[in-house]
Amino acid sequence: MTQFVIVTGGVVSSLGKGIASASLAAILESRGLSVTLIKLDPYINVDPGTMSPFQHGEVFVTEDGAETDLDLGHYERFITTRMKRANNFTTGQIYQSVLEKERRGDYLGKTVQVIPHITNEIQEFIKRGAGYGTPEAVDVAIVEIGGTVGDIESLPFLEAVRQMSLKLGPHQMAFVHLSYVPWIAAAGELKTKPTQHTAQKLREIGIQADCLLCRADRPIPAEEKEKISLFSNVPEWGVISMWDVDTIYKVPRMLHEQGLDRLICEKLHINTPPADLSRWDALVHEVEHPKQEVSIAMVGKYVDLSDSYKSLNEALRHAGMKNHARVNIHYIDSETITADTVSQLTKFDGVLVPGGFGKRGIEGKIAAARFAREKKLPYLGICLGMQVATIEYARHVAGLEHANSTEFEPDTPFPVIALIDEWKDADGTIQTRNAQSDLGGTMRLGAQSSDVSQGTLAHKIYGDVVSERHRHRYEANVRYLDTLRKAGLVISALTQREHLTEIVELPQSVHPWFMGVQFHPEFKSTPWDGHPLFNAYIKATLDHQSQRTNLKAVA
Ligand code: GLN
Repeated sequence: MTQFVIVTGGVVSSLGKGIASASLAAILESRGLSVTLIKLDPYINVDPGTMSPFQHGEVFVTEDGAETDLDLGHYERFITTRMKRANNFTTGQIYQSVLEKERRGDYLGKTVQVIPHITNEIQEFIKRGAGYGTPEAVDVAIVEIGGTVGDIESLPFLEAVRQMSLKLGPHQMAFVHLSYVPWIAAAGELKTKPTQHTAQKLREIGIQADCLLCRADRPIPAEEKEKISLFSNVPEWGVISMWDVDTIYKVPRMLHEQGLDRLICEKLHINTPPADLSRWDALVHEVEHPKQEVSIAMVGKYVDLSDSYKSLNEALRHAGMKNHARVNIHYIDSETITADTVSQLTKFDGVLVPGGFGKRGIEGKIAAARFAREKKLPYLGICLGMQVATIEYARHVAGLEHANSTEFEPDTPFPVIALIDEWKDADGTIQTRNAQSDLGGTMRLGAQSSDVSQGTLAHKIYGDVVSERHRHRYEANVRYLDTLRKAGLVISALTQREHLTEIVELPQSVHPWFMGVQFHPEFKSTPWDGHPLFNAYIKATLDHQSQRTNLKAVA
């Protein structure tokens, strides 16, 4: 039977609860246990799909096409279990499910209430995420509760896990609470009071933490740990210090050295071989000893909030590690790029246009793609980045002046990117669906397979078939593919099911490395192997750099 570790947070958000949970999972996995992670989000949105990246950061997409919290990205990068739709749920989903049951009459005339109906539903969802009682059940499920203790909206979740631990019986559930220990510069002291209070708040709700992870900018000395222990009723060895580090890959070892996994295994009465964190040590070594550096210009919209591109940043860094290079990512606001300013991109080793929605900054992205094509700078376009590369090629090479996507210019004379319904409508074959009526889940989402043409750059990277995850509405318009092909654009992969454009590229005789992909490869990159596409892109940027250096030397 699956056992559970509940991870809650106190004092403030953004302390790294996701990384802490993923690190604990990674250590337990290194002890030979099968582990999964479940994220509970107390907000009312059904999923983060319709939330602004400014509000929420990246929307992570699972293989089965769920739009989830970005913490699921950390989970997949830290452990081997793949996340599914059931690994993330929100208050919105809980209420939706309870209300559907109520309408069906499942509650047999009873008054439907937060306790027990909402709290029972939460427990069912947690068990479902862990595969509890099924052949897929894991040994340990780590359940991260979003928000901070004391928020009104997270109360039903805390109440649900409290009830659950009672029902499961002793040694089936452990509680880890992440707190904050601020350094007060004026006093020259670490302050333990917020942690004392948040542990008390948790006890008020009926939960006694087994372990406190104390976030601070520095290690917490024994004296302060002792004080925290006394006031929070957590034994001293359960007060664990989690200080700022320059790479997240140091966190598993930091927590293990202080006995976090031993404490959890003792609490849950689990016997395993000792943890083996050698691969994490190797990773840290790789991060700290790069042999070279590359600079990538990332031309996007939400550039002031790098959380919007979490998985992408990680994928680039992983590929850097694979190439023994430090990757410096320079975020460039596409609104600042015009025909006059685009030459600023010359100083970079590669250009990357990431995914995005909406018209703002589009012309800057198109100018960046054009510059990369003409100046033979390595170019990687992801999702929207493939679409702008296609628009750019249509306009400036294929002679389709003012070509555009109907997302940005509904009346464009050449809709080279459009909704499938729009180009099918021209034949009167299908009706336009009302895309505005329900924005949630109306996209191409999740993993899909495509056939890759032989002799292409894509084929060198992927072989015959590529399967990657999607999150977009618009597609390369089938009606213009022949024109684009004749003008020299290579369509190197088409989806198996609907023959939609999956990858475009330039022949390597024309450009050393130019590729746009309709999917989001960043979701499948791991620190262990990187990702073949990013590994190849970073390699191309390194080649570009050494070629440039050679040219300079000759000059
Ligand atoms: N806005 C584009 C679309 O919906 C691209 C989406 C993306 O980059 N994720 O198709």
